[in-house]
Amino acid sequence: MSANMKAINPFISAQTQLAKAASWLNANEQQKLELLKYPQRIIEVMIPVNMDDGVTKFFRGYRVQYNNSRGPYKGGIRFHEQVTLEEVQALAFWMTIKCAVVGVPMGGGKGGIVVDPKKLSQTELERLSRGYVRALSDCLGPDLDIPAPDVNTNAKIMAWMVDEFIKIRSGDRQELRATFTGKSVADGGSEGREEATGLGGLYALQTILEEVKLAPKSGRKLTVAIQGFGNVGFNIAKFLTAAGYQVVAVSDSRGGIWVPDGINPQLTQDCKQKNGYLAGCYCSGTVCDLQKGKVISNEALLELPVDILVPAALESVIQKANVGKIQARVILEMANGALAPEADQILEKRHTVVIPDVLANSGGVIVSTFEWEQNLKNAKWSKAQVNERLKKQMQSAAFEVWQLAQKLKVDLRTAAFVIGLKRILIPAQKKEG
Ligand code: NAD
Repeated sequence: MSANMKAINPFISAQTQLAKAASWLNANEQQKLELLKYPQRIIEVMIPVNMDDGVTKFFRGYRVQYNNSRGPYKGGIRFHEQVTLEEVQALAFWMTIKCAVVGVPMGGGKGGIVVDPKKLSQTELERLSRGYVRALSDCLGPDLDIPAPDVNTNAKIMAWMVDEFIKIRSGDRQELRATFTGKSVADGGSEGREEATGLGGLYALQTILEEVKLAPKSGRKLTVAIQGFGNVGFNIAKFLTAAGYQVVAVSDSRGGIWVPDGINPQLTQDCKQKNGYLAGCYCSGTVCDLQKGKVISNEALLELPVDILVPAALESVIQKANVGKIQARVILEMANGALAPEADQILEKRHTVVIPDVLANSGGVIVSTFEWEQNLKNAKWSKAQVNERLKKQMQSAAFEVWQLAQKLKVDLRTAAFVIGLKRILIPAQKKEG
């Protein structure tokens, strides 16, 4: 983080967003808001792991079950050395809102382990993943709490976790598989899940751009810079390129590359996997060529003169200190909490269109819910079926958010929150009545 950037508590950011949207709720709904100021349940565990050298190390893990008024808790598990309880709470809160915004019958949850997974061997990572499930098995289940991948977790980790869960619980194997989503297709996952967050982001962007009428300067494509080149960043780069956008910059935790001709996402990904990092992977057209690009820092990537900026890594990367330097006319917030509220406010005044995380990255939880449903029904949907349903659900949610924003004359985040909050608070009222 550069010197003038602040460490921001993401849970305070989340609560600021909640307070802003609350003024659009009616008195009955506002009375119920207390429900969403704190999680229903916080679980903190210590996970012992036998390391390869025979020493036992302990890792701190969290699961936050924020709210289940619309369905089982649902949310990913993050492995990162900077995971904190506040971060997991914020992520669980945003999941609660997100599921409601896109009409998924799930509540919100999130998990995390404080660990740098790059410092563990594969066997240590497997023991840690299984240990997390052993510590939390009482709190998980297909109708209770359903985790998925997030930063530094993937289909392989979900496979270890679901295997451990099935070992602990005896019973119907097929149904228990629905406890974890984001599994590989071979392990009972859904077609299309791995790419779903990126593809959903494209649909949200296209739907909003149809309304905003963002036109490229004559004779060129709309340009895009993407921060983060993991599951979300790579997939959205691939779909944007295929849809005719020019992705000119991407980055990972070690820095970025800027290729004004436009990167080739697949070649860049292959190069990153070979090198272990992005720098030097200047892949455009059908070749990788060191003459074609420049190394660029993560901070500089955000400030490039592009039409669309896509943060797809971590929280609070756009805040008061750097928002003045952002040149993009549209920000597609694929990373949860990438924009701090102070930055949001400034961007709103400047009429920069911000497509908020609770809408932009909801493709992942939509297809996770398809996976859960297929596992429960012992069904298999084709990739075309999955993608068609995802497209419909994303387009209709994005259009609904756009329309409400126009009606209330508010930014898209506030409109999305108002839609989500009303759906969460009304079932709570009905239950009492
Ligand atoms: P990932 O682990 O696959 O990739 C994360 C990427 O961010 C990597 O390229 C990493 O190098 C990069 N990164 C890490 N620290 C960075 C830094 N300081 N600066 C720049 N880049 C950095 O994770 P992911 O699944 O792609 O998740 C990315 C974001 O999208 C997170 O906010 C996550 O919560 C959100 N998200 C993911 C999904 C999903 O389905 N995977 C769904 C919804 C939201």
